[in-house]
Amino acid sequence: MPKQDKVKTQDIVILYTVQHLTTEEIGQIFKMTRQSICKRLKQAGISSHQGEWVTMPCDFCGSPINIRRCKWRKSNKHYCNNECYYASLENPACKNNDRPNLSVYATHSDHIKATHHNNPNVKPIWDGANI
Ligand SMILES: [Zn+2]
Repeated sequence: MPKQDKVKTQDIVILYTVQHLTTEEIGQIFKMTRQSICKRLKQAGISSHQGEWVTMPCDFCGSPINIRRCKWRKSNKHYCNNECYYASLENPACKNNDRPNLSVYATHSDHIKATHHNNPNVKPIWDGANI
């Protein structure tokens, strides 16, 4: 268990601004109160915006986007708008309805997992390529 005065402020800054942990989570790591973490961040000139907002490239077009930490944590794919999201779902390999390109999945969820997220564990209940 580290003593408070041995905890480097730079370590707290990295956990807050790079890993985007909450002040409470950082406090649990270093056995410090949330308030003392906030005080250290304030002394280092770090604003709450730097921890609570994440700047990252859109997973489709690569444009930089700013999203809230809670939204960033919920999903591993992030898009600047609905156009990029829907464009990312298009499967360029399946532009015609020839039988070998067709397959049927038990649920829409399975279809999305298999064709758009390339999850090899989800199998179709009917596959035109096998007939
Ligand atoms: Zn985009």
